[in-house]
Amino acid sequence: MTDRYCVFGNPVSHSKSPAIHAAFAAQCRQDISYQAILAARDGFAASVHSFVAAGGRGANVTIPFKEEAYRLATRLTARAQLAGAVNTLLFDGADILGDNTDGAGLLRDLSLNLACPIAGKRVLLLGAGGAARGAVAPLLDAAPAALVIANRSVARARDLAQGFGRSGSPSACGYRALAGQSFDLVINATSASLAGELPPLPAALFASGSLAYDMMYADGGTPFLAFAGEQGAARLADGLGMLVEQAAEAFLLWRGVRPDGAPVMAMLRPIDPGIAARR
Ligand code: NDP
Repeated sequence: MTDRYCVFGNPVSHSKSPAIHAAFAAQCRQDISYQAILAARDGFAASVHSFVAAGGRGANVTIPFKEEAYRLATRLTARAQLAGAVNTLLFDGADILGDNTDGAGLLRDLSLNLACPIAGKRVLLLGAGGAARGAVAPLLDAAPAALVIANRSVARARDLAQGFGRSGSPSACGYRALAGQSFDLVINATSASLAGELPPLPAALFASGSLAYDMMYADGGTPFLAFAGEQGAARLADGLGMLVEQAAEAFLLWRGVRPDGAPVMAMLRPIDPGIAARR
């Protein structure tokens, strides 16, 4: 029998997740269906419960429901607890397991697809929202020489950094305090690119050979990647690889088999020499 999965979001019609999971299912010979479900902004829990009642086995969760999914889950994985947000649900009777695969997806894209090891690197994470929160623990696990979290609201960056009270814990600051510092990897986890904006970054942020990574993906690049290119970052990458790898991690949780993300990325990647050539 075909097992049903979906992504809940609002808006959700732009989501690439149905295409990604259809490709994974074909690759791994899994009999699943996967649809995008537009949940009302005040109707997320009701949408989840009716999907479960109709036989749904699991779901992805996107903007703006990740925090609500965190509260709705009856059990949480350790990485979802650390992230404070859930992007993947697994249904088992009345039990709802909440997971967060965003950070793992980012790290797999960096290490596997982009061959960018984190160990010993100076890493700058821009933003302190849900996506940044999910990235901190896996970045620290990869043993960077330093991890700096910079955010518009400095208090929010400090809160995030203080949540990781262990060796190699990150430091936190505002954008102005970045002047005079340079990094091997700069990850944009702000939503500024969504509005066509750029955090107020100082010049000379990108060390020689550095990688600039924008979690957002958009045909034709993003303001952050355009800035990084002008500022001399050696390589530019958008978040399409992260999107595919976080989906692969969810597929693994649901089906017990990990799909290969590379062919699916190639299928989705528009011909964009500006980004592709510098990955
Ligand atoms: P949140 O709303 O949780 O956080 C937004 C963050 O962006 C905050 O740190 C906020 O700062 C900052 N911000 C917003 N506008 C500006 C601006 N104009 N200048 C500077 N900082 C700004 O969003 P998410 O963390 O959920 O998402 C962040 C990005 O990551 C989005 O672009 C999203 O599309 C992308 N993403 C990509 C994924 C992928 O698979 N590729 C997965 C998940 C997210 P402040 O705290 O000061 O308000």
